[in-house]
Amino acid sequence: MIAASEVPLSELTILVVEDEPSIAEVVGLYLQRAGYKVQTAADGKIAMNLLMKEIPDLVILDLMLPEIDGLSLTRWLRDRSDVPIIMLTARREEIDRIAGLEMGADDYVVKPFSPQELVSRVRAVMRRIKRASDDEQDAHLSEPPLTFGDLVIDAPSRNVNISGNDVQLTAKEFDMLYLLAQHPKHVYTREQLLNRIWGGAEYIDPGTVTVHIRRVREKIEADPSNPTRLVTVWGVGYKFEP
Ligand code: CA
Repeated sequence: MIAASEVPLSELTILVVEDEPSIAEVVGLYLQRAGYKVQTAADGKIAMNLLMKEIPDLVILDLMLPEIDGLSLTRWLRDRSDVPIIMLTARREEIDRIAGLEMGADDYVVKPFSPQELVSRVRAVMRRIKRASDDEQDAHLSEPPLTFGDLVIDAPSRNVNISGNDVQLTAKEFDMLYLLAQHPKHVYTREQLLNRIWGGAEYIDPGTVTVHIRRVREKIEADPSNPTRLVTVWGVGYKFEP
């Protein structure tokens, strides 16, 4: 993953889900002025369709929305992605606000709010996310290699080695193998792998997982058609055998 600091600010996209056109417009304007790319959705259903195609860097979400309300959308989105969510709520919606935070929204702003305050909150959440991802990368750097017999998987160098020979894996192939190998015998469904490795992007066909499993088997298994490491659990998913 690319650290946020390496991405020019203009490439960070924010989806604003708000049915009141005047609010959506002002918020969009301020965010653009702050250097963000802005998408807008006027109801929950439009938002869902956009989110199925692409997960933005942050979502600003009004709780009271036509078609699909903000809480349902938060729940739906959290099943798929860790994208930061800032809720827009009315003062009387305190119960919903708490429910939203419990469902995994990152922050909220109470209407009426100053657009400048919202921009500050957006920046704060982006900073927090960046710090967390930096910490995660630092933790990654100090992780010892995973060793299973002649198979060695080294996260800091993203290197896979069998009996002293390097194996070339693509980024996604490595991420998938590493996730499975970190939790030997833990069965992951294809959907879980899709969510964890591909960030829950629904436009990606679940068959992608099958294809990647097959490719990794061809690279690490002595007999790819009778795998002993990346094992299929029929009707469920896949697991790594240590
Ligand atoms: Ca509304």
